[in-house]
Amino acid sequence: MTSRKDEARIDEDVVDAIGALGNRTRLEILLALAEAQRERQEQWLRMSFTELYDAVDVSSTSQFSYHLDRLVGPFLAETDDGYRLTYGGDKIVRTLLAGFYENARSFGDTEVDGVCVFCEGESLVATVEREQFVVRCDACESGLLTDLLPESQTRHRSASEIVDSVGARIWGSFTLIRDGVCPECYGPIDTDVDAHHHDGRTLYTLEGTCRECWLVVHAPLEAVAVLHPAVAGFFWEHGSAVLEHPLWEFFEHIASKTVRTDVESVDPLAATVEVTLDGETRRFEIDDELIVTPVAQPDADDP
Ligand SMILES: [Zn+2]
Ligand SMILES: [Zn+2]
Repeated sequence: MTSRKDEARIDEDVVDAIGALGNRTRLEILLALAEAQRERQEQWLRMSFTELYDAVDVSSTSQFSYHLDRLVGPFLAETDDGYRLTYGGDKIVRTLLAGFYENARSFGDTEVDGVCVFCEGESLVATVEREQFVVRCDACESGLLTDLLPESQTRHRSASEIVDSVGARIWGSFTLIRDGVCPECYGPIDTDVDAHHHDGRTLYTLEGTCRECWLVVHAPLEAVAVLHPAVAGFFWEHGSAVLEHPLWEFFEHIASKTVRTDVESVDPLAATVEVTLDGETRRFEIDDELIVTPVAQPDADDP
């Protein structure tokens, strides 16, 4: 019997590729290409052996050539016009620049707008502690949202700007997940709907799991509905640019039952989202493919 430990889950080529990065000269070669791209404002720029050699501090061409060879394949592509970053090489450079190997800055409780979906209290606070961004309700202590933040998201932003940036990022991720695309690796996302029971209320969330990188993201079903232009447009007609505000401000509409969800079946998903604004109600159906369809309005002139 072979245990999971005995199976080679990580290919030897991958170990070699990651091992090749633990060297200053090689990281500088990748960075030199990124710097030249930035200066010349040219994406996927190619640089000759000599150009790259001149850009990096290394004692001999033979040594330089050895380091270059270690990068060709996973991080550099060798073309007729010279060397260029591969997708992986580009990601490594961005990782270095963004400081993904450094820890994000922390900040203490910062009050944010919005309402708790559980107790309807206007008592939401956001915190970043040990890279973890949390929006929680100070009144009932429920956690509403958790995410890990990279250093680049916090480095040059104030606490309230960090909060806003998370707000913008979440809607962006939800849009990708609704379309079956992983917001981290762009691989296929599988989605399920879960029911959560809390104080006599049932909240439905969409759980998206990436088949490739195992990312798991949760989104309220109502948030999936509001991404549809007909739903967002209905809010707009009633004076609210709903997607311009962070998700936790949208929670107010769920808490107040302005947006209500009726789930007929979880698998396959068949749900109706009802939105009532200024006494006017619109209904939208969400099917198993997460397609949102406005339900035809009964004609107002009908008896
Ligand atoms: Zn609460
Ligand atoms: Zn993924």
